[in-house]
Amino acid sequence: VRRVLAVASGKGGVGKTTVTVNLSLALARKGHRVGILDADLHGPDIPLMLGITERPLGSGGMLLPVERHGLKVMSTGMLAGEGVPIIWRGALVNKAVKEFFGRVRWGELDFLVVDLPPGTGDAPLTLVQSIPMAGVVMVTTPQKVALSDVRRAFGLFRAKEVPVLGVVENMSFLRVPGSDQVMEVFGSGGGEKLAKAFKVPLLGKIPLDPAIREAGDAGRPAVLDEGSEAARAFDEVAERLLSVL
Ligand code: ADP
Ligand code: MG
Repeated sequence: VRRVLAVASGKGGVGKTTVTVNLSLALARKGHRVGILDADLHGPDIPLMLGITERPLGSGGMLLPVERHGLKVMSTGMLAGEGVPIIWRGALVNKAVKEFFGRVRWGELDFLVVDLPPGTGDAPLTLVQSIPMAGVVMVTTPQKVALSDVRRAFGLFRAKEVPVLGVVENMSFLRVPGSDQVMEVFGSGGGEKLAKAFKVPLLGKIPLDPAIREAGDAGRPAVLDEGSEAARAFDEVAERLLSVL
């Protein structure tokens, strides 16, 4: 694995997993070999958003990632009911890193994109300390509550000396159907202000778009809908990210 990139957020529900799958696919569609490690132990939603129902195969004590849409994918969510706990705390998080994530045979990858648990608790801290990361993409919405929590997350990565590569403002604006008008549902300018305050680039703004939610629920991420506004927005994030790496 050449570079490990983490996707992080201060608050849950801001679209961290949605950004992880769409950004990873955008990178893969530019010709990069990409894997996703779903490290959100408390909310492993990556399989659902990629339409994965099968279990990873084991081979000689190793685990082989599941391949989907050209990505290699591993998640604790794929092993539910097979001795994999539902509650992860304390020493169990270390165990996940060693006995689960440490056994994945990724093969050759340009990027491994890690969907981290939200916030600054025990699990994200342990994961950041255990998996050497080239940098972090920080996801937030323009809401005050999201922006307030994301500042703490910046603190976590700064303390652990993991560079924050930039900010993605998700659910940024809503396009009024059949018009050129956009509405700011969750506030405006938050992503820009945050990026400025922490001296990192704003990697892009993703619209609040029912098609993005539907695509995620259907296991076929929005970026695959070529030419759509969502696809263009995620593509731009991938391009900006590559330009700062
Ligand atoms: P997190 O991983 O941060 O908890 P998710 O990626 O699961 O957040 O997103 C939470 C919910 O919001 C999901 O139902 C998802 O489909 C939806 N969602 C995420 N981003 C958008 C968006 N830009 N537009 C519309 N719905 C979105
Ligand atoms: Mg998630």
